[in-house]
Amino acid sequence: MSVGGLCQICEAKEGRFTCDNCGALVCADHYDESEGFCARCAGTIEEGGPGRTLE
Ligand SMILES: [Zn+2]
Ligand SMILES: [Zn+2]
Repeated sequence: MSVGGLCQICEAKEGRFTCDNCGALVCADHYDESEGFCARCAGTIEEGGPGRTLE
């Protein structure tokens, strides 16, 4: 596979950014550039709502 890997949130797009808080590799859609956080840490994730676990 290629270097880097997939976004750890959607696992559908290429991870291009690293969260300053948790270190997760995330795609542009799941990275808050103003905060430097991934969507999970920035609280901007819109998948399933709060409390939903992956899988
Ligand atoms: Zn993503
Ligand atoms: Zn994070």
